[in-house]
Amino acid sequence: MHGQKRIMVTGGTGFLGSFLCERLLREGNDVLAVDNYYTGSRDNVLHLLDDPRFEILRHDITFPLYVEVDEIYNLACPASPVHYQIDPVQTVKTNVHGAINMLGLAKRTKAKIFQASTSEVYGDPVVHPQPEEYRGSVNPIGPRACYDEGKRCAETLFFDYHRQYGVEIRVARIFNTYGPRMQTNDGRVVSNFIVQALRNEPITIFGNGTQTRSFCYVDDLIEGFIRLMAAPAGVTGPINLGNPGEFQVRELAEMVIEMTGSKSSIVYKPLPIDDPTQRKPDISRAKQDLGWQPTVNLREGLDKTIAYFEWKLSGRARSVSGVRSPETAYTPQPAPAVGLPVQQAVSIGP
Ligand code: UDP
Repeated sequence: MHGQKRIMVTGGTGFLGSFLCERLLREGNDVLAVDNYYTGSRDNVLHLLDDPRFEILRHDITFPLYVEVDEIYNLACPASPVHYQIDPVQTVKTNVHGAINMLGLAKRTKAKIFQASTSEVYGDPVVHPQPEEYRGSVNPIGPRACYDEGKRCAETLFFDYHRQYGVEIRVARIFNTYGPRMQTNDGRVVSNFIVQALRNEPITIFGNGTQTRSFCYVDDLIEGFIRLMAAPAGVTGPINLGNPGEFQVRELAEMVIEMTGSKSSIVYKPLPIDDPTQRKPDISRAKQDLGWQPTVNLREGLDKTIAYFEWKLSGRARSVSGVRSPETAYTPQPAPAVGLPVQQAVSIGP
């Protein structure tokens, strides 16, 4: 138990945000999830709503926000290429205006602030695996630039607020992450392949499937977030968080077909513009500074994720130990010892 901080999570009802809120509540904190529900969903946090220390605020971080908090995790931004490319200008605003607003809030409240940055800052990397020193190879005018350059500019803002105003920052570069609670229409490769396999629909490989990614299970990633936020003040990042196991996309397709026992065929579709050909984190810095490395291998993580999507698509969950459905993942804790119990709080009129 670390306990009893007021922590805000932007993107708090999204895939990663919901797991983070759950973890922070479990550690005894007051948690404010801020979300505009663009890709987040109340369904992801329904099981947290009975906890009196949990609150959701519908808000778009491209507008300023005035709340009192001790820590901020800035996760808000659609992360799947299909979603962030629907409204690229809004994606840039979420990353840039959103970062300015959240950093301004951190500056005023003296809150420590965490930025969910991304391996996309490395673009289509020519250095492999990618260490944090690598400055990347991003096309600044391509269809992925709204996300890649938006996240790069957010990193710039974080380090400028740190140098100029002394804001305490933590910047994590997140590599591909998967797990339960991804949306069926998320569009990213792991959820797409699992959903297609479970429906016995063709598995869509973009390009020839030899491009590589490194897939991190959500629980491992959240552990990395918590360790980075708790790290000594000098540890600002940027710090890579991801699983260094590297797989070709077609290997992933074969694994999912085998694990689901699917009758799906494989179809090949054009490779999206600027799709990175290889990606694998160098996690030496996370190991050294945080004592962190992933513990869940791809097969184990896929097993839990497949069980989740089986449950989601059919209403029946396989009995795989450790599988999280929104209904079973979390038991609300008793009301906190300090502050008003929720019943009293709502009965107070103006
Ligand atoms: N991909 C694929 N089929 C899909 C979705 C994605 O082959 O149905 C490929 C995509 O082209 C990319 C890789 O899988 O090479 C990872 O894509 P994702 O959208 O999950 O993440 P990102 O490209 O941001 O790493």
